[in-house]
Amino acid sequence: MLEPSIVGSLPKPSWLAEPNVLKAPWRLTGDDLRAAQDDAVRLVVLEQEEAGLAIVTDGEVRRRHYIWGFLDGLTGVDTDRLALQRSRGGRYSESTEVARVVGAVERSQPVFVEACQFARSITDRLLKVTLPGPMTIVDSVADEHYHTDRKSLAMRFARILNAEARELASAGADVVQFDEPCFNIYLDEVEDWGIEALEQCMDGVAACKAVHICYGYGTPAVLAWKTKNTEWGHYGVTLPLLARSSVDQVSVECAGSGVDLSVLRELDGKDVLLGAINVGTEEVETADVVATRIRAALEHVPGERLFPCTDCGLVPRSREASRGKMRALAAGAAIVRAELASANRTAMASRR
Ligand code: ZN
Repeated sequence: MLEPSIVGSLPKPSWLAEPNVLKAPWRLTGDDLRAAQDDAVRLVVLEQEEAGLAIVTDGEVRRRHYIWGFLDGLTGVDTDRLALQRSRGGRYSESTEVARVVGAVERSQPVFVEACQFARSITDRLLKVTLPGPMTIVDSVADEHYHTDRKSLAMRFARILNAEARELASAGADVVQFDEPCFNIYLDEVEDWGIEALEQCMDGVAACKAVHICYGYGTPAVLAWKTKNTEWGHYGVTLPLLARSSVDQVSVECAGSGVDLSVLRELDGKDVLLGAINVGTEEVETADVVATRIRAALEHVPGERLFPCTDCGLVPRSREASRGKMRALAAGAAIVRAELASANRTAMASRR
């Protein structure tokens, strides 16, 4: 009960890539890079285990960025020569650097399957592997090849993601998670084709299927928007749609947003990965603060379906802060777990 985990990413060691920078270039190349990435995975898995997390990831430390890391493994996408485009509905900035679709997009070989096998071989904990969701990919590329509509391009990526997800499950991933922050932006598209694209991604995947929907990384532009934002009703639209989908778990940002937790009631029957750690601050929450956040969610979600988590990836944070936040997450969950066990014992004793 209340098993803690992170959304996915963790900061990379400074010997692997420049710290605290999204899309930071690697410090090594070739076999040296590969060996360093293996070592980094060993470290971040160990840190999650030591923190007390029940489900671990490889920290996405083999990826420059959660979207480009996947696109780098496909043909037809240029993640080096970038284009400028309005994305995320212009929420965080007027234009953003995006990868370019320059040819037929194909997955000629698995992208993260070897990485998944490696992570599987070094831990006995449950393993989660994340993939960017199709709507978020489409919003992060300039289509210079197909010149088609967003739905058609998303369905193309969804078929590719599905092939990858099926193989990740076979390679030992217990959870395959699709990251769809754009589900909090393009609410009409979520209903029109977003859920359909997500279903295509999840089709026949023999693992627990999760979707992560947040208000963006803890970066300065995103934090500036969050500070000004007063409208947090997006989950009220998306969660009822997801409740009717075949997804098993929904990861939501609740610590660093102004979301009214009663909206979690819409996820009846689904597991809720509750964002109980703010990824936008270096300040490490106390276990008591985390416990308070979990208790508040328990007003709306039964304990057996509640999984304390981070709001989003920890990659923008320092390694020290992310270690502290993971420990606080597990410690806060342990406090509430003990309270529930104690209440359970009392209830049983009174029945005797
Ligand atoms: Zn996120």
